[in-house]
Amino acid sequence: MSVPVSQMWTVASYVIRQKLARRKQYPLVLMLEPLFRCNLACAGCGKIQYPAHVLKRQLTPEECFRAVDECGAPVVSIPGGEPLMHPEIDKIVEGLAARKKYIYLCTNALLLKEKIHLFKPTKYLTFSVHLDGQKEHHDFAVCREGGYEIAVDAVREAVKRGFRVTTNTTLFDGADPKSVRAFFDDMMELGIEGMMLSPGYSYEKAPDQQHFLGRARTRRLFRAILSNREKDWRFNLSPLFMEFLMGKRTYACTPWGMPTYNIFGWQKPCYLLQDGYADTFAELIRETAWESYGTESGNQHCANCMVHSGYEASAVNDTFGSVSGFVATVKGTLFHRYRDDGALRLLDEPVEQGQQTPLVQIANAAETLEETRA
Ligand code: SF4
Repeated sequence: MSVPVSQMWTVASYVIRQKLARRKQYPLVLMLEPLFRCNLACAGCGKIQYPAHVLKRQLTPEECFRAVDECGAPVVSIPGGEPLMHPEIDKIVEGLAARKKYIYLCTNALLLKEKIHLFKPTKYLTFSVHLDGQKEHHDFAVCREGGYEIAVDAVREAVKRGFRVTTNTTLFDGADPKSVRAFFDDMMELGIEGMMLSPGYSYEKAPDQQHFLGRARTRRLFRAILSNREKDWRFNLSPLFMEFLMGKRTYACTPWGMPTYNIFGWQKPCYLLQDGYADTFAELIRETAWESYGTESGNQHCANCMVHSGYEASAVNDTFGSVSGFVATVKGTLFHRYRDDGALRLLDEPVEQGQQTPLVQIANAAETLEETRA
């Protein structure tokens, strides 16, 4: 079991309360971005291309607390930018833990060893360390030689000190499923609590536009990676979301399930797109044209998207929306190894695109749109 029972109970009872209140659009995880600054410049990132005056800005702890209280989600993910570069990140974490929020502090871990003394181990805090695969894949993805070793070293230190630690892996086109599976073995040996995975999203601002996955290729890759699981692999993801990635389920996007708050306000409609901002969470819910988003909407920016910030809340909603969803979740958590001979054969197929292809400049989203209805 990768998530503590207390956290599972908090999330389950929260979702059941929303269901009983017949609330259709409820937040599950707040994506709180206190800053966009980072000490890496990853090719697939859409967050650090802001001008310098924006990169200098950051949310105060009080602004973070106001957003968290307003939203009410039981889980708060702190991405960025690199949150450990925020001068008051310890105060932010302390304030959220005092509110009994389960916090995932997403970090590339370059500063983790240096700053770990600022934090105390608690069930409310998890360091979610960005690792995009085995050494050469990770270093290439984050454009930093030696980044893997620094992150792994920091993971060891955090585990040793009794912190909850997960990994957070984004997979792009050209990912080698065999290598990804070997990476899972390596991470389990480090003693982490669980692994999070997501396909990369084609940010228009990201410098590398050629390595984002279409929907059919996403399903194929995740079927190869997540079928025939090793017994000791632990994932920090909804089992039904993983089945969605493997092509076993279809879901509509529910972007309000993981709303984003940052220095500009409440971002419409999701963590990935920026179609304006709302001043309050209530305004975000009320005034966003939700029907214009998601794969079925025909919005070209949503066409190839299968990322967790759009679809994991849909999967969790399914878990508590029907007996079959609940039974499938229990089965997926406790028993299912997803035996699949076809997926085993996929592991032996040559990887189509090499990771070492030179990076390219931004392309138009319409030009990269593909396989939407596959
Ligand atoms: S499909 Fe993806 S890009 Fe579109 S609204 Fe949902 S999460 Fe955002």
